[in-house]
Amino acid sequence: MPAIFADYNSTTPIAKPVSQVMLDWSNLVGNMSSAHQFGQSMHAVYDESVDSILRHLGAANWELLSCSSATEANNWLFYSLLETIKGCPRVITTAIEHPAVLVPLCRYHDQGLIDLKICPVDQDGFILIDEFESMLTPDTVLVSVMLANNEVGTIQPLKTVANMAAKVGAIVHSDIVQAAGKLKVDLNDLGVDAVSISGHKCYAPTGIGALLVKDSSKLRPMILGGSQQQMLRAGTVNVFGLACLSVGLDYCYQYIDAHVDVYDWAMQIQSDINDCVVISIPKSTQYLWNTVNIAFPGKDAHSLMMRLDMRGIAVSTGSACSTGAIEPSSVVQAMGYSPEISASAIRFSFGYPTTIGDLKQLIDVLKDFDAC
Ligand code: PLP
Repeated sequence: MPAIFADYNSTTPIAKPVSQVMLDWSNLVGNMSSAHQFGQSMHAVYDESVDSILRHLGAANWELLSCSSATEANNWLFYSLLETIKGCPRVITTAIEHPAVLVPLCRYHDQGLIDLKICPVDQDGFILIDEFESMLTPDTVLVSVMLANNEVGTIQPLKTVANMAAKVGAIVHSDIVQAAGKLKVDLNDLGVDAVSISGHKCYAPTGIGALLVKDSSKLRPMILGGSQQQMLRAGTVNVFGLACLSVGLDYCYQYIDAHVDVYDWAMQIQSDINDCVVISIPKSTQYLWNTVNIAFPGKDAHSLMMRLDMRGIAVSTGSACSTGAIEPSSVVQAMGYSPEISASAIRFSFGYPTTIGDLKQLIDVLKDFDAC
C-alpha cells in the first residue's frame, strides 16, 4: 500500500536538520531570562534564531514576538489593535482568509467595535483589487490580506494592497503562514507592517508561532504574567521552538527551487480523469508551487478523501465545521463555484520530500477510482 502524504498545507514533517536540533537540545539547559551563563547561552541561541528567521523573510530590522501558533499571532495583533478601539473604524479583509483571521475579526464586528468589510475574490481566487480600493476609507485602521492561500495556493498582490492601504494610513497585516518557506518573501519590499508565521508549516514542530512587526509599540499583552518579551507576552520564551523554526526555514529555502513539478502532474489529472474540474493549479508564479485543488463533480469530497485514506493517501477537503460535519470549501465557494462543485473539491498539497514516484502512484489510484 502506498503511503503518500499529500496534505503538506495542513502540516509538515520534521525536517532532518530540525530533528538534529532536537537531538542536540538534550545537551542544553537554561532559561533565556536567567542572568547566569546557562541562561545567557540560551539567550544567544534565541538571538541567532530570531535573526535568522527575520533574514529569511527580508525583515532584518523587524521585531519578532514568539507565541504558540499563527492563530495566536493573528488574534494577538487584532486584540492589540481592536479590543478597546473607539468609533467603529473600518477594517478590511478578504473572503478567502483562514478562520484564524476571519473568526476574530467577525467577532469584533459583531460586537460593534469595527466596521468589517470582506473583499471578494475573482474566479481564480485573487482579491478584486478595484473592490478593495473602493472599500478603503480614511477611517480604515487595519487591512489583513493573506500572502498565499492555503486551499488554492493563490499568491495575492500584497504589495499593491499595502501601497493602497498606506495611502489612508491603515496598518497592513498579512497571514503569511503558507507563503513562508514555499516562496521567497521580502517583507520590507512588500510594504506590510505585521505578519504571522507558524512552525509546523515549515518542517518544525507545532507549538511555535510568531508575530513579526515593524514596530511593537502598538502591541498589547493578551497573556499576563511575567515580563518576558518586553512584557508583551508573559511566559518563558520557547527558544527550542524558535531554533527549530529557524532551521526549518533554512531547510525550506535550501530546497526552494528543488521540488517536484506539480503543474505537469495536475495537467495529467485533467486529461486522464473524466469530468474533473480544475479549481486551481500552479500554472504561474502567482500560485504556490505545491497546491492543487480539483473538484470531482458527482463525488462527495469527504468520501473520496476517506477512500484515498484507505489506500494510504492523505489529502484534504473543506474544513470540518463545529458540529464535526464537513462543509464545502468556503474558499472554493468564494471563487464562485456552486456548493455542489465546492463539496467535491479535493486539495492536494505537496512538500520538498514529495517524489515523482509519489505523484505517479497518486494518479494511478485516482485513475482506478475513475474507472469504477
Ligand atoms: N493561517 C493559515 C493560512 C493557515 O493555513 C493556518 C493553518 O492551516 C493557520 C493560519 C493556523 O496556523 P496554526 O496552526 O499555527 O495556528
